[in-house]
Amino acid sequence: AGGPARLTATGLTAGYGQATVLHDVDLELHAGQVLAVLGANGAGKSTLAKSLAGMIPIRSGTVSLDGAPIDQLSSFQRVRKGLALVPEGRRLFADLTVRENLELGVGARSTHQSLDRIHELFPKLTELSGRAAGALSGGEQQMVAIGRALASEPKVIVFDELSLGLAPVVVDRLLEAVDEIAAWGTAVVLIEQNVHRALALADEALVLRQGRVVFRGDPAAFSDEALRLAYLGTD
Ligand code: ATP
Repeated sequence: AGGPARLTATGLTAGYGQATVLHDVDLELHAGQVLAVLGANGAGKSTLAKSLAGMIPIRSGTVSLDGAPIDQLSSFQRVRKGLALVPEGRRLFADLTVRENLELGVGARSTHQSLDRIHELFPKLTELSGRAAGALSGGEQQMVAIGRALASEPKVIVFDELSLGLAPVVVDRLLEAVDEIAAWGTAVVLIEQNVHRALALADEALVLRQGRVVFRGDPAAFSDEALRLAYLGTD
């Protein structure tokens, strides 16, 4: 695809307190592409998600959206520019209704059309509209969290551990939705524990090990051997 990538990160380094967790991460993602981010527990996947979304400051490097730097912007400003996060653990307002949670995602970029589109993607949310988010099943809550992110009509959406704790049939449904969201032209960063499912969906894979990129490329070229190295680190 010509022109600047939708999302670019170069030399991304980030951490917490004294600890540097992510080292020199580069990535590039175009409209409609899915990037699967894989790695063992503690490899830095969530830290990457938070760095991209502005939930934690970066130490060095750049993050750009359509060629313009966004790394100095707050997470809220990044949402307005078109980068939304579906956080690990969903972080809904349990006492608010589904509709209220969705409306919280409605920013300057949003229209009624985006809410219509969310209800087309997840028809179930229409019937659950008046229910408290905290009373829903895990899968339903994840639909609300995805819907909330989509309400801002993002150009880039980052999913952090989308399927954590959910039944396989629910995971399948959510990953179908991810595929559909990408087909709309959204660039997708998919942090996912179901490695084989994520690779089946992805246009590109990125593997982190101890906070560094150890593989970036075609998911089809991603052999079991590469997986073993990434996860077990016995090279
Ligand atoms: P997991 O699948 O376990 O969530 P991950 O690949 O998402 O793993 P991160 O959550 O990014 O990994 O964590 C990477 C490292 O950063 C770990 O060593 C973790 O202990 C550390 N870390 C994560 N969050 C914090 C925090 N808020 N403060 C300090 N250290 C943290």
